[in-house]
Amino acid sequence: MKISAHSVTLQLRVPFKISYGASTTRENVLVSIDEGVGEGAVVPYYGETPQRIISYVQSREVQKAVDHFSIEDLRLPPGESSAARAAVDLALHDLWGKQQGHPLYRLWGLNPANCPRMSYTIPMSDDDDTYRQMLREKQGYPLIKLKLGSGSLEKDLWMVKTAAAEMDGTLCVDANNAWTADQALTIIPQLIDLGVLFVEQPVGRYDMDGWRKISTELPEDRPPLIADESVQGVDSISPLAGLADGINIKLAKCGGLFPARQMIHQARELGMKIMLGCMVETSVAITAMSHLAPLADYLDLDGNQLLIHDPFMGMTVDEHGTLTLPDAPGLGVTPRAE
Ligand SMILES: [Mg+2]
Repeated sequence: MKISAHSVTLQLRVPFKISYGASTTRENVLVSIDEGVGEGAVVPYYGETPQRIISYVQSREVQKAVDHFSIEDLRLPPGESSAARAAVDLALHDLWGKQQGHPLYRLWGLNPANCPRMSYTIPMSDDDDTYRQMLREKQGYPLIKLKLGSGSLEKDLWMVKTAAAEMDGTLCVDANNAWTADQALTIIPQLIDLGVLFVEQPVGRYDMDGWRKISTELPEDRPPLIADESVQGVDSISPLAGLADGINIKLAKCGGLFPARQMIHQARELGMKIMLGCMVETSVAITAMSHLAPLADYLDLDGNQLLIHDPFMGMTVDEHGTLTLPDAPGLGVTPRAE
């Protein structure tokens, strides 16, 4: 089969500021395998580059796995990021669906009516008026995810209180590793009073003691604690059982739809909730993950909405956060005219 890869520059509508820093462009990699298309998100804080993904895609080992259609055998060399594997995994899934003549969710037997509603993410801002403006633009949206981890608990709490005052919708928060266990124990009880639906990655990625401390010391009525950075692939779920209440699965972290489905089944067996998340991605990767939405509790697939120009069309979300999956075979994405 014929495989090719090239990078695509994506301009962001507004600088996206989270606790790692701010950025205005991303360069992702698009992969084609015959008429199948896939995408690998280049996440700068993971140390990834487009060139590394492209050389992985063009390697002899990948060509061999692709020729056998064995997604399972897409092995990553040490140090390679899972985004590279995801790009190939997605293109093979798209090709498979096109050959079968059905969208992936249908081939998996999933009911699109079971998709939970989508959240919309508001990044942090140094300027309080800009922040209020970003909130107002999403007034009426039913589920808003606030990025926290400004470095000041006071400021973090201000953001949630401001959003609670400005917005009618439900709030959830993502601290992106920013808090110590003691800080999390200070702020999370106050978030309960503000009706926060869940708290994502309250403590550091490797802070297992922190996870243990907060899961035992927080009150019973706390919102679910969702692990994001602490969860990468399939192997990272079981150490979190009993500490985190759920996991955030992303294609670029786990390596594609094949491992994402494994993770969903493993987490369910452990009684954990499922969130499907994303990086800054085009409608290729966002739509790919959407096909698993009927299996999720929470959806955070808004990475394509951050782009000035999304080169593809696929799944859509309306102003109520309702997701519509495409009817077309495979991923169901098509290139958008310039
Ligand atoms: Mg997160």
